[in-house]
Amino acid sequence: MTTIAVLGAGYAGMRAVKRLVHEKVDARIVLVNNNPYHYESTQLHEIAAGTKEPSDITFDIRDAVSDKVEVVIDTVERIDRESKQVVLKESQPLAYDYLVNALGFESETFGIPGAEENSLSFSNIDSALAVREHMEKTLANYATSHDENDLHIVVCGAGFTGIELLGELAWRVPQLAKQYSLPEDLIRITCVEASPKILAMLPDNLSKWAVDYLTSKGVEIHNGIMITEVRPGVVVTADQEFHANTIIWTTGVRGSHVICDSGYEQKRNRVIVEDDLSVKGHPDEYLVGDVSAVPDAQSGRLYPTTAQISIAQADVVAANIAARLAGREPHKFTFKSLGTVCSLGPHAGVAELNMMGHWKLKGHKVSMVKRLVNDRSVLELAHVKEMLESN
Ligand SMILES: Cc1cc2nc3c(=O)[nH]c(=O)nc-3n(C[C@H](O)[C@H](O)[C@H](O)COP(=O)(O)OP(=O)(O)OC[C@H]3O[C@@H](n4cnc5c(N)ncnc54)[C@H](O)[C@@H]3O)c2cc1C
Repeated sequence: MTTIAVLGAGYAGMRAVKRLVHEKVDARIVLVNNNPYHYESTQLHEIAAGTKEPSDITFDIRDAVSDKVEVVIDTVERIDRESKQVVLKESQPLAYDYLVNALGFESETFGIPGAEENSLSFSNIDSALAVREHMEKTLANYATSHDENDLHIVVCGAGFTGIELLGELAWRVPQLAKQYSLPEDLIRITCVEASPKILAMLPDNLSKWAVDYLTSKGVEIHNGIMITEVRPGVVVTADQEFHANTIIWTTGVRGSHVICDSGYEQKRNRVIVEDDLSVKGHPDEYLVGDVSAVPDAQSGRLYPTTAQISIAQADVVAANIAARLAGREPHKFTFKSLGTVCSLGPHAGVAELNMMGHWKLKGHKVSMVKRLVNDRSVLELAHVKEMLESN
């Protein structure tokens, strides 16, 4: 029987197996993931800041997928593309006829000296919890150390993740200060960013609103300056040093290391895919989500890595595998963004939406939009919608 191996149970992998089942493909579908749970990566910053618990953003994969899907909990080490086998850490290699690689993202340090060793980044539940534990322990340590750097947090990078994290920290850190009886006037949350513009994907008035909001909550943003090195407790730029005992790295992402370990032609572990999302010269291999790079047909620029595009890609890949199995022509992938929603802590945010018109939103209502988007994602990926509809 034909085997379709889907690697990774993030947004793209979960959606791909759901759509393959929906397409009623006559094939064995195997989903491989390194944890028994799915996590909502779009909310990892909330785990890192401690405003949410892992149980708020995870669910059991086996409860969520159809019983037509075989679930293997194991770590993918590499893909032997010649023999069409997935090499796993614990189990025997998994032979496939079709491959859907959705192994997602890792943190990118761009080779900046010391960044990897001397800062904390997060790209899954464990690393997000490690950020939270370090931050809380370091703040609490001030009571005995009286080292002001225990009260300083530096966030490196003011991209989407950095800004969303700053929003959560600006809300949570004052609470921790009360809990640990810390001198609030000595607490500093600083952000260092190379780009002169913050949240460049949003219109100027929204990005300015976001910066003003964070500044009003005490966050210091230093943009337009390049980080040259990270030393233990120090973020170094051309002419300044930022001292802090909690340094969090959020400057960008690359795809899973499994991509380069498997010999793909790649840049930062992302592979430029064909317009049906297969890999050039390997029509049975599909890459979806953050391991793929898709050029926008109009501008030629690569689409950013988002959950939104990952889900749209998974739909097309499932339809294309079903088409191939049925001897039909595959579809080309096209994408129209529904917009961008950036939270600034639990009670504010900025958003530009292209749904039922064009909307530019800021303030409290955006946090409600964000909640709706997150809840919808869980509902859809966990099949709760189908369960409710069929009862
Ligand atoms: C803080 C933050 C906020 C974000 N906010 C938004 C947003 O508002 N909107 C939006 O559209 N996008 C947002 N994004 C981007 C979005 O989260 C990613 O683009 C999306 O998660 C990519 O989905 P994916 O399925 O490719 O990978 P992932 O979600 O990374 O899933 C990969 C899966 O593969 C598993 N895995 C990894 N390696 C292995 C291995 N070797 N073996 C087995 N399993 C493995 C992982 O455990 C995981 O389950 C945000 C990202 C972050 C970090």
